[in-house]
Amino acid sequence: MTSQDHEMRAQRLDAELAGLDLPGRLALVAAFGGRAVFTTSLGIEDQVITAAIGLARLPVEISTLETGRLFKETADLIGETEERFGISIRRFHPEQDDIDAYAAKYGLNGFYESVEARHACCHVRKLVPLAKALSGATIWITGLRRGQSGNRAATPFAEYDAERDLIKVNPLADWSLEDINAYVEAEAVPTNPLHKRGYPSIGCEPCTRAIKPGESERAGRWWWENDEKRECGLHVPEAAATPLERTPA
Ligand code: SF4
Repeated sequence: MTSQDHEMRAQRLDAELAGLDLPGRLALVAAFGGRAVFTTSLGIEDQVITAAIGLARLPVEISTLETGRLFKETADLIGETEERFGISIRRFHPEQDDIDAYAAKYGLNGFYESVEARHACCHVRKLVPLAKALSGATIWITGLRRGQSGNRAATPFAEYDAERDLIKVNPLADWSLEDINAYVEAEAVPTNPLHKRGYPSIGCEPCTRAIKPGESERAGRWWWENDEKRECGLHVPEAAATPLERTPA
């Protein structure tokens, strides 16, 4: 299949997903063929998708990236979520050799010193484990929403990810935060207690702070970098991104 064929297939899927509700979107993707992988950061959007997959018992693999720098609240939520929905979440870890090499070059917390050092840390702790989680997958499901930031305002329901050679599906692309909260309440979905303490978006502990009134949902991520488009490389192709876009979840 050519790259153009993949693009057309993704565009057809995008149009079909637009007309469905969340269970319908996930059921369609699960039946698409090949291996569907959902990567969760245990954020509130991801918890909604996990709940919908678990409640419908869909054949979708659920994975998470245990970076080694997560909040305790996030790490605890993995087990709680497995128990609540009777599912198993695969954990992917960074390589110790990579962490040692990073620490030798930049220092363990060198990510505060430069954007390059921050991207290098995200590469070791997130992108390398993500590549393992997605190895052999045909579909990658994410919890991206258009309302999360300006950088995500054009998020489609499905797109071909040429770098990873798979179709990336964002079943919550058109959901508002109000939609998310209503689902969480209706289905008694466990969520990270940090959300109630001012953390709408939660990543690694040293790189996430609570937001102030009026700030955007992702303002607490890598707050010391003064750029609205900051990301970690999971959802912006490295080759196409400006340096600050490379290195969310
Ligand atoms: S979010 Fe921070 S600690 Fe986590 S991988 Fe990126 S730079 Fe490293």
